[in-house]
Amino acid sequence: MVNHGMPQTLEEALILLKNDEYQIIAGGTDLMVQHRHWAQTLPKIPKPVLFIHHVKELNYLLDTPEYLEIGATTPMDMIMSSPLVPKILQHTIEEIAAPGIRHMATLAGNIANASPAADGLCTLIALSADLVIASLDRKRMIKVEEVISGPKRNKLAKDEMIIAIRIPHQDQSMSEFYKVGGRRADAISKVSLAAVIHVHQSIITNWHLAFGAVGPRVVHDIHTDQRMIGMKIDDVKRQTDAIIAMYEPLITPIDDQRSTAVYRKQVALNLIRRVIINLH
Ligand SMILES: Cc1cc2nc3c(=O)[nH]c(=O)nc-3n(C[C@H](O)[C@H](O)[C@H](O)COP(=O)(O)OP(=O)(O)OC[C@H]3O[C@@H](n4cnc5c(N)ncnc54)[C@H](O)[C@@H]3O)c2cc1C
Repeated sequence: MVNHGMPQTLEEALILLKNDEYQIIAGGTDLMVQHRHWAQTLPKIPKPVLFIHHVKELNYLLDTPEYLEIGATTPMDMIMSSPLVPKILQHTIEEIAAPGIRHMATLAGNIANASPAADGLCTLIALSADLVIASLDRKRMIKVEEVISGPKRNKLAKDEMIIAIRIPHQDQSMSEFYKVGGRRADAISKVSLAAVIHVHQSIITNWHLAFGAVGPRVVHDIHTDQRMIGMKIDDVKRQTDAIIAMYEPLITPIDDQRSTAVYRKQVALNLIRRVIINLH
């Protein structure tokens, strides 16, 4: 007899995770597809599942002077419609799937699923967001990108779960999410780019580019980004080709059913050009 768990509180969830091996399910919009079973109607998930969607204490948005905190079970539609949420994240969620999926899907699930094409993950990395991770014995905080270990793999221990996402308040003179996909409403990205940039007195003071679907994980290289800090906007515009060339080695897409490597690479480089053209 498989022992599934449906905790009502965070503590109950953490106790269950401590004592047994579970597959956490939040909205189920990735897991139900990954484990679909054509011959029957129910998906076959190999481990007992821990259904956390009911854990109300993780369903919230909390604004503090330093950051916006989003609880792990907050559905995407609620995040999208909150005025507390940075515009770039609202826009990113708008580009994810359709209303029915967004009503169930969570950002924590988007992160933990660790798809290289995950749109929410891409934007949260560009926003320098942190994760609050908890087990029964401890709580820790890491940068969102540090939880990813590879394509579809994360570094959470078996007794840990994401309990919240923290987005630091920061000056942004430009924040944009570009997604190139197929049919709107359920198109997984062929290529995406989230850009979060701040310019003060014509000088770049913050610069983050995160790319989706062009490598084994969402691509973000802090060292390359930091080379932009201190540049004057005019110089950025003049040196557009050199800046694109600087990012080029990071873009290593593959061919798959959605697109080709050649197309993806060219589009990703064109998106950098678009960011620079729109910079002011
Ligand atoms: C039709 C369709 C269209 C889609 N379109 C897009 C799209 O355009 N862009 C996009 O990025 N995604 C898309 N998705 C994928 C999916 O909707 C998102 O990745 C979603 O955010 C996953 O969240 P969830 O809560 O449903 O995760 P679940 O399916 O419940 O879980 C996903 C993974 O995360 C883990 N997990 C969930 N919550 C936690 C937690 N709190 N702590 C630790 N681990 C956790 C689970 O164990 C599992 O491994 C689409 C899916 C469908 C079915």
